[in-house]
Amino acid sequence: MQPQSANVCPLCGEHNQCAMELAKTTGEPVTECWCVSVAFSEKLLSKVPPEALNQVCICQKCASQADAL
Ligand SMILES: [Zn+2]
Ligand SMILES: [Zn+2]
Repeated sequence: MQPQSANVCPLCGEHNQCAMELAKTTGEPVTECWCVSVAFSEKLLSKVPPEALNQVCICQKCASQADAL
């Protein structure tokens, strides 16, 4: 297991492209990532490791899959 990285989706392990993380690398100020305004379902959040909860962005793919569940 790799240490939890802030720019990797805790569910699928892919790059989550979180705007907050992107801002850190580009140095450009970002007010909000899409993940901030999205309400993740409890079902989806229950799959996220507790240590990653509210720390790591879930990627858009996983978020949209949760909607389809
Ligand atoms: Zn994902
Ligand atoms: Zn994000």
